[in-house]
Amino acid sequence: MPTMKALQITKPHELSVVTIERPQPGPGEALIKVMASGICGTDIHILEGEYIGDYPVIPGHEFAGVVEQVGEGVSRIKIGDHVAVEPNIACDNCSYCLNNQQNFCENWQATGVTLPGGMAEFVVAPEKAVFDIGDLAFEEGAFVEPLSCVLHGVQKTNLRLADKVVILGAGPIGLLLLQAVKVQGAQSVSVVELDQARAQAAEAAGADMLYRSLDDLPKDAFEVVIDATGVIPVMKRTPEFTRKGGKILLFGVPPKTNVEFDAFTLFLKGLTLLTSYTSVRNSLQAIDLLKNKRIDVKSLVSHRLRLEEFEHGVNLIKNKQENVKKVMILPNG
Ligand SMILES: [Zn+2]
Ligand SMILES: [Zn+2]
Repeated sequence: MPTMKALQITKPHELSVVTIERPQPGPGEALIKVMASGICGTDIHILEGEYIGDYPVIPGHEFAGVVEQVGEGVSRIKIGDHVAVEPNIACDNCSYCLNNQQNFCENWQATGVTLPGGMAEFVVAPEKAVFDIGDLAFEEGAFVEPLSCVLHGVQKTNLRLADKVVILGAGPIGLLLLQAVKVQGAQSVSVVELDQARAQAAEAAGADMLYRSLDDLPKDAFEVVIDATGVIPVMKRTPEFTRKGGKILLFGVPPKTNVEFDAFTLFLKGLTLLTSYTSVRNSLQAIDLLKNKRIDVKSLVSHRLRLEEFEHGVNLIKNKQENVKKVMILPNG
């Protein structure tokens, strides 16, 4: 039996690179040789025992690679195709799926969360979750998932032509949001970011105005305020900056705790409070925007590491060291 190297989280705070049997694609499945696999905040939550999912697990849900082998009945993709994977696997047969809300599937499974993921030399995925990326670089393909989530969130705001938008936080997700709201027709996009390097990255990505602190941000100024930090004290202040009738999108993944808003302000300003959970059929959109260069992700990659260096990558992100943005693991690199 052929084997492969994989990064396994055996239980919270415990991980190791193991050699295990290489998976075989069953009917309707593809075996993918993983070429680039991005470390996401969710992987860190899994490592720290703060997320849904089972242990042991091979993390990694933002990845791209080459189709190595296909199972019986696979017809849309073929061996040698360069592909990205939509990690959320919906059952297509529950009340949510049947209502086009696959992100809330009652039988939800996810590659890299409940199923073996892309922090391995090979991974198996059902054909319906595999998308041809053509001649996009593998690292770009690894952004299809986070970009899909961003597109879903931006669509939820029903952003109108020439709306003024502010994005709080310019990490990799903030920078994707910034570009996506421009594609969607925002008049101007302001960004609030404390970190110098991240603020520069926001400027390079097309931010119209940069603020280093929430205290400098104009009040009652934006039709859409998007939090990309998930930090409670930041989220709490979003209503201050929203224009009357405006919308707040809480996009950053928050901790499991309460956030307080002034209820009277929400009422008086007629605000709409939105959240966004994963994505719904946004992979093709994401791939097209990357192919047409409407959204750039290449400049978001700051580190390229081997499978054995996963924990180092996690620490870089947690401690915001070395001007870290997206860390790519190259399992076959
Ligand atoms: Zn992710
Ligand atoms: Zn379902």
